[in-house]
Amino acid sequence: MTHLSGKLVRAERGLNAAEEREALGSQRRPPAEPPARLIQRGIGAGRLPVSIHAGDCWDSRKRCTPISTGQARRALAERIPACPDFRLDTALGMPE
Ligand SMILES: [Zn+2]
Repeated sequence: MTHLSGKLVRAERGLNAAEEREALGSQRRPPAEPPARLIQRGIGAGRLPVSIHAGDCWDSRKRCTPISTGQARRALAERIPACPDFRLDTALGMPE
């Protein structure tokens, strides 16, 4: 019985290793698309958010961090302005 359970454990370990390899492989793949949105932070105390950009915005080079659409929505609700070149409220389907 000990011998059999040892075999089972080894089989399970083999399965887990395969799953781990698969997970690592998917992590190595490049992202399929740019981030949904970017948030641009100011300099100085608190590095407060100053603007929200589309993920592929031409003007999003500096101090931008990828955020999800949900985070962008929350930022908008906190009156953080969207990039002038990007009608974020429209893109997110938010009523005025
Ligand atoms: Zn922008």
